[in-house]
Amino acid sequence: MGTGPAGVSVAGMSQGRLVRIEQDILAKNDAFAAVNRQLFAARGVFVLNLMSSPGSGKTTLLTRTLTDLKGRFPMAVIEGDQQTSFDADRIRATGTPAIQINTGKGCHLDAQMVTQAVGRLGIADAGVLFVENVGNLVCPAGFDLGETRRVVVLSVTEGEDKPLKYPQMFATADLLLVNKVDLLPHLAFDMARMVEYARRLKPGLEVMEVSATTGEGMQRWYAWIESGLAAAGAAR
Ligand code: MG
Ligand code: ZN
Repeated sequence: MGTGPAGVSVAGMSQGRLVRIEQDILAKNDAFAAVNRQLFAARGVFVLNLMSSPGSGKTTLLTRTLTDLKGRFPMAVIEGDQQTSFDADRIRATGTPAIQINTGKGCHLDAQMVTQAVGRLGIADAGVLFVENVGNLVCPAGFDLGETRRVVVLSVTEGEDKPLKYPQMFATADLLLVNKVDLLPHLAFDMARMVEYARRLKPGLEVMEVSATTGEGMQRWYAWIESGLAAAGAAR
């Protein structure tokens, strides 16, 4: 990130030009996001945009969720990753339809990628679509995918100052899942301080402490998903 109004600096390009390029990219993204949101709303699909740093245990959390909720309602996954398809393979092993998007050098998913993936995946009405974003707490925050809710996963092995380091991510989140809480006895992680930092950015942010390994706290997360799905169905 640079210090000019565009947030970046590129040799030979003025800040004004960079700001215009960024505005064009985001305007195009927002148009696709609106199309996605309209489609999801019409079909009663509850769509979660899952974001985190690399190594937060997001894919493990997702595979456990898919396994535990199997058969209750239709589910599907869009898996964003820069290079590999390992995570999508783990998702498919649960029996859930999944599509991989490799972003290559790109470090986030955009709304058009989701539009195309949904076209290929063929999502069921009145189901839950999980979109696992690329592991990165910076630019995924700036790209609306047309999701119903934004979920940030932070593990207790990360610093409790992460919310302050990545403010846009936390300011735009609807739910914060604090993962790997089974490791808390071995760490100096200050949960109260981290939650206070996050709520400075997003007052009233809902926080759930979970462990995808032991299953602790997962029932509350599942209840949250089920109530979101019910609301999406009622609004249809
Ligand atoms: Mg992953
Ligand atoms: Zn990016």
